Amino acid sequence: MRDLAANLERQKALNLYRTRRVLESPAGVTAVIDGQRYLSFCSNDYLGLANHPEVIQALQQGAVEYGVGSGAAHLMSGHSRAHHALEEELAAFTRRPRALLFSTGYMANLGVVSTLAQRGDTVYADRLNHASLVDAALLSQARLRRYPHADSATLGKWLVDDSNEDSWIISDGVFSMDGDLAPLPQFAALARQHQAGLVIDDAHGFGVLGQHGGGIAEHFALDAAQVPVLIGTLGKAFGTFGAFVAGSEDLIETLIQHARSYIYTTALPPAIAQATRVSLRLVQTESWRREHLMHLVTRFRTGMEQRGFLSMLMPSPTPIQPLRVGDAARALALSNALLAHGILISAIRPPTVPQGSARLRITFSASHSDAHIDTLLNALSEVL
Ligand SMILES: *Cc1c(COP(=O)(O)O)cnc(C)c1O
Repeated sequence: MRDLAANLERQKALNLYRTRRVLESPAGVTAVIDGQRYLSFCSNDYLGLANHPEVIQALQQGAVEYGVGSGAAHLMSGHSRAHHALEEELAAFTRRPRALLFSTGYMANLGVVSTLAQRGDTVYADRLNHASLVDAALLSQARLRRYPHADSATLGKWLVDDSNEDSWIISDGVFSMDGDLAPLPQFAALARQHQAGLVIDDAHGFGVLGQHGGGIAEHFALDAAQVPVLIGTLGKAFGTFGAFVAGSEDLIETLIQHARSYIYTTALPPAIAQATRVSLRLVQTESWRREHLMHLVTRFRTGMEQRGFLSMLMPSPTPIQPLRVGDAARALALSNALLAHGILISAIRPPTVPQGSARLRITFSASHSDAHIDTLLNALSEVL
């Protein structure tokens, strides 16, 4: 057997060893760790819904009505009225004929890509796609070609060269560790031109982009014909748990028949679906959350520019505002220095991001105030 201890030691020596912080508080702007309070800038709870009183109440009532566990997979006896209603509401929200719930985004990606792409097909994937999309492409056994980040020109050339195969373009909508957007109008045009499939995982766009929180598709005003397979997760801006796929009747029925990560797993708790129905309503109706979030992004970027640090920020228009560091040891040291200033931001290191591109992944939530941003700016000035 491989020497596990030696491997772990090597990871420590490379500053790539990961540890978990034990939180004693709900997701929110304040994180309590070891009894100490920190101002947190590292959750994906972009709209501040994970600890929202109405969402909590819906979860509690859902548990009273449906119990805790769903008791079975969706195709056995686990598909409740709560799941079904949420699917209908997600279909209306995404303006697609149907939506299908998955237990996690990771599983949604595995199920969708491995069902659609087959051996002999080619999957074109962005080099910075989320790990779950990479794993999904490998599982599908299709040929995998990874194009340079957001590079629709290279993708276009590759599609011309490979034009006699079934092909799939697969991308994050908003990139999870970079915060930038896929060039979706160009991808939609390429997909149409080459009769390729287009699969977009908008885990970080839903709730955040678009006037009603409809994500990158709403942002670019692209319809179901242009973006036929749209994946969203519920554990980020929606503040709950789970994931969904939205698309045509045939797409959803195909997934129900064939997606193994849909069929062979327990349905998520119905109470979570009930909580998500409330958060979905808040996502759509409380647009002030998105407006405030964008205001915080502008305040932060302006403040960094005034302090001479703008060039360290990656060019992101979203609440994911990564600060480029490069070296893994330095990223860790900066994260620790910020902790000493009472600020929690995680250092993101390889293999989550490419070698030499370690960073501090700063994220904002609608629950942050202007004063929180100013506290962060002052702390960054001191540690940088
Ligand atoms: C978080 C994330 C996922 C996984 O979603 P989970 O519900 O957490 O499993 C998938 N894709 C992207 C781009 C993500 O950021």
